[in-house]
Amino acid sequence: MKILLVEDDANDVAFLKACLRRQDVKSVELVRVASMADAVGALKNNQFDVVLLDLNLPDSTGQNSVRSIQNADSSAPIVVLSGEGDEDFAIEILNRGVQDYLVKWEGDGRTILRAIRYAIERKRSEERLSFLAQYDPLTEIPNRRHFQDQLERASTRARRGNKQIGLLFFDLDHFKTVNDTLGHQAGDVLLGMVVERLKTCVRSGDLLARLGGDEFAVMLEDIEGPLAAEAVAKNILSVFEKSFTLGSRDISITASVGITIYPNDTNDPMTLLNNADIAMYQAKDRGRNNFKFFTQHMHEEIIEYHRLESDLRNALLNDEFVLMYQPQIGLADGKVQALEALLRWNHPERGFLLPAEFLSVAEESGHIVPIGLWVLERVCRQLREWQETGVPLLRIAVNIAPANFHQSDFHRQVEATLGRYGIPPGLIELELTESSLMENTDNVQNALRRLKLTGVRLAIDDFGTGHSCLNYLRQFPIDVLKIDRSFVMDLGRNEHGTAICGLVLSIGRSLNLEVVAEGVENETQLAYLKKHGCGSVQGQYFSMPVRPGELAAIFESHGTKANKHPVRDPQDTAVVSVQSGRNR
Ligand code: C2E
Ligand code: MG
Ligand code: MG
Repeated sequence: MKILLVEDDANDVAFLKACLRRQDVKSVELVRVASMADAVGALKNNQFDVVLLDLNLPDSTGQNSVRSIQNADSSAPIVVLSGEGDEDFAIEILNRGVQDYLVKWEGDGRTILRAIRYAIERKRSEERLSFLAQYDPLTEIPNRRHFQDQLERASTRARRGNKQIGLLFFDLDHFKTVNDTLGHQAGDVLLGMVVERLKTCVRSGDLLARLGGDEFAVMLEDIEGPLAAEAVAKNILSVFEKSFTLGSRDISITASVGITIYPNDTNDPMTLLNNADIAMYQAKDRGRNNFKFFTQHMHEEIIEYHRLESDLRNALLNDEFVLMYQPQIGLADGKVQALEALLRWNHPERGFLLPAEFLSVAEESGHIVPIGLWVLERVCRQLREWQETGVPLLRIAVNIAPANFHQSDFHRQVEATLGRYGIPPGLIELELTESSLMENTDNVQNALRRLKLTGVRLAIDDFGTGHSCLNYLRQFPIDVLKIDRSFVMDLGRNEHGTAICGLVLSIGRSLNLEVVAEGVENETQLAYLKKHGCGSVQGQYFSMPVRPGELAAIFESHGTKANKHPVRDPQDTAVVSVQSGRNR
């Protein structure tokens, strides 16, 4: 152990030496200096395990002495030697980077050695803590906090020097899949390998940081312009061209990079990181494995999203949604046999909005869940109203978002809503999307079974546009397939659409499912569908969605296939639903 003793008083030195000698520690090497100037010189040229420091030296006193030692070697643990009178002061400076203190002439060699060992340990854990505060323990590169500090400093420098900073923000595409399939440990190993490769594509002055999870950032200080940042982005992407070997597996993974330039896009460093994040999401949206520069337009899109999202929050409260109904015409008799409820938003400033204008925001923000329940409720209320005013009762198809379908008690919500209005479940058809049915098949199968037990009919909407798996289709208790408008549109126009329509119709026939075609606009389409056994159609050719009040005219011109079960007293249904609940 190498000790630097900084002490000007010869008696104190003699006492300490005597104490240590008595301990008979062979490996102790003591270097003594009598001034701060000599201490600093010794620290510059040698590595010491600990510094024993008398605060009052000829050329330095008090806290200044501590600071001078720390500046000379920030990694050396310090034990202060205090006189009897300065104990309070010694304790006070423990909080300022001193690891321990000894009162001169007190104690013996054992206590002195113990203090030294303790100081060394304490310094080590302090360093570890400050490392963890600034660095990512897994990859040992700077963490988010460090990165933000540096970014702030760099932007101050850039502002003064009129320089540009490039900021790249990226994450690994589908990294979650790696974690989910190979385990978190394998994910960590992969991250480590990725960082090793990334280090090769940044210059020594650039700052590479792990911001969390699989998110990374690179700061390029003092760049010529966007092209320099683009070059680094391309380097980053090329790092992923070769696969990574994890044990016996070869893993191919890509990244998506967002780029922003200071001060072109903003001069606030925190917004800068945010902008790069926004740009990265655009890169992901455009198919991943590429980079995107932040643009003001992206920023506006985000603002627009937040505006719609907050308007949506009030829309239910303010009763701004309305439902329109589109008839489905049975092809066997040309009569209206069902309706599809379609959501519209009467926005106080923007006017009448179609689902395309707000549904994705509602889904992303989760607002779709209460909205979906509102739709179901409103449909039931409408049926009840029609029953009471003598309007012929038709089955109504209701679109169900994946978020609603995935609620574990969705079937109970359906049952409760129907019960509240006394609606026979056969009058409701729930339209599910293929994406709802994609995930874990066991869960989906159970959810479908529970829904089926409530007595409602189940349809797959936009069939063929997502990932249909014919095998599952056979196992799912589905009643109806809806051919998507995009395929119907191509009927008679190209072979592709015609082939798909024909295919869906034949699947329907062989699995004994009803087929409804959407978006029928002309005679040609209608003729084809009729000829190939399509059950019913909906579309402009008959009627676009209309308000409830306009349905009477349509019923008059087409007639309806009125429903055979009258709406019951709500209480009856409540009893029925309790019983069916017990049977399960
Ligand atoms: P969808 O369920 O496939 O509904 C059919 C869409 O095609 C409706 O658009 C309808 O107005 C439109 N359409 C029907 N026939 C024709 C036609 O001949 N020509 C043309 N050009 N369009 C036709 P809409 O009402 O804008 O709804 C779009 C989508 O929004 C729906 O597609 C559905 O996925 C979703 N959606 C609508 N209402 C709800 C709802 O209450 N809840 C949920 N979760 N989604 C809904
Ligand atoms: Mg639909
Ligand atoms: Mg559809």
